[in-house]
Amino acid sequence: MSITKELNRLQSESNEDRKALSLFTSTQSVVHEALNKLGYSDDMFELLKEPLRMLTVRIPVRMDDGKVKLFTGYRAQHNDAVGPTKGGVRFHPDVNEEEVKALSLWMSLKCGIADLPYGGGKGGIICDPRNMSFGELERLSRGYVRAISQVVGPTKDIPAPDVFTNSQIMAWMMDEYSRIREFDSPGFITGKPLVLGGSHGRESATAKGVTICIEEAAKKKNLSLKGSRVIIQGFGNAGSFLSKFLHDAGAIVVGISDAYGALYDQAGLDIDYLLSKRDSFGTVTKLFNTTISNKELLKSECDILVPAAISNQITVENAHEIKAKVVVEAANGPTTIEATKILTERDVFLVPDVLASSGGVTVSYFEWVQNNQGYYWSEEEIDKKLHTIMVNSFETIVNVSQLYQVDMRLAAYMVGVRRMAEASRFRGWI
Ligand code: GLU
Repeated sequence: MSITKELNRLQSESNEDRKALSLFTSTQSVVHEALNKLGYSDDMFELLKEPLRMLTVRIPVRMDDGKVKLFTGYRAQHNDAVGPTKGGVRFHPDVNEEEVKALSLWMSLKCGIADLPYGGGKGGIICDPRNMSFGELERLSRGYVRAISQVVGPTKDIPAPDVFTNSQIMAWMMDEYSRIREFDSPGFITGKPLVLGGSHGRESATAKGVTICIEEAAKKKNLSLKGSRVIIQGFGNAGSFLSKFLHDAGAIVVGISDAYGALYDQAGLDIDYLLSKRDSFGTVTKLFNTTISNKELLKSECDILVPAAISNQITVENAHEIKAKVVVEAANGPTTIEATKILTERDVFLVPDVLASSGGVTVSYFEWVQNNQGYYWSEEEIDKKLHTIMVNSFETIVNVSQLYQVDMRLAAYMVGVRRMAEASRFRGWI
């Protein structure tokens, strides 16, 4: 690799690191504010601002060309005062330590909001699954489990899917863990295929949770979902299922995007066609030459905007230009803290990530309960239970926001952090 290329690589890496760092510090500052509002001392913030445990591992993997490549992976366990830690594992070239830490803190908040008996955890491996074979991915997944097996387990820390990981990867991980422990351990991981103890509704759970939040937020803004114009940024797991649910509910999906560009049509896009053309990484816009940029998409006309892709998308730069009346964050950290203030001042109804995307971990919890009891529920039961939890969480956060006169993000953090702080206090950690 030439020196200029290497320097560019380092430059872009440090950009990712910097982005993750600022995301983490701004998350910490909202946690601090939430604890203050609830009357906790700064000692509580000291306990909760960083994960309790952070493991870095190096995983040797035999690649298809016969050479061994070393991958770096992480597992963060934010706080286990309430119960075992829980959260996904992402496979992505931009994974870094700060991001994994921030995501584990977010998981604690999501579990607190949905009232699940868990603390937050998160894992990640620096890799690009888009350029790896099936066999290489299997060896990497198994190698990761061997590397972290001492600190995870059904009553310790329970992984799940996240960006670019899926039920096949969960199956390999579960199999590897069961071999190490020498007994079948379906409760070690969630998001598994149905035949291996997966749950009905897990794959579409995040999108279902987001849909419920959109319905509730629309009611608050006197909008009818039928006929509302929706833009969805991102066509991955959450974005693609969501486009289908909203389209079926009578909304007009006017815009969608992937990492390479966006499609926008005032008359509504042909969602079924786009879904049939997307690849397993959510890419579809490459097939069209009438694309616009992701930046332009966010500013386009719509009633409801759902950022379902990556972090730092709505910032001070574009928050004034967002046309939507409702913004529902399906991605983690798509709106900066400064942009949250601008949207709130402009009376845009914001449903924060830690609430909107909590449907995934909620159905993961159902999966784990079913694995523990060995008795499985129907999709209708899952949907009903998910609906009850999402609506309750939504209402609780709206009430806290009104009672304390704080924006929806701060209200969500107050709800999310409270049980973890109480459990830590009862345990005598503070
Ligand atoms: N990765 C998902 C999230 O960020 C799901 C985690 C889980 O199911 O444990 O919420």
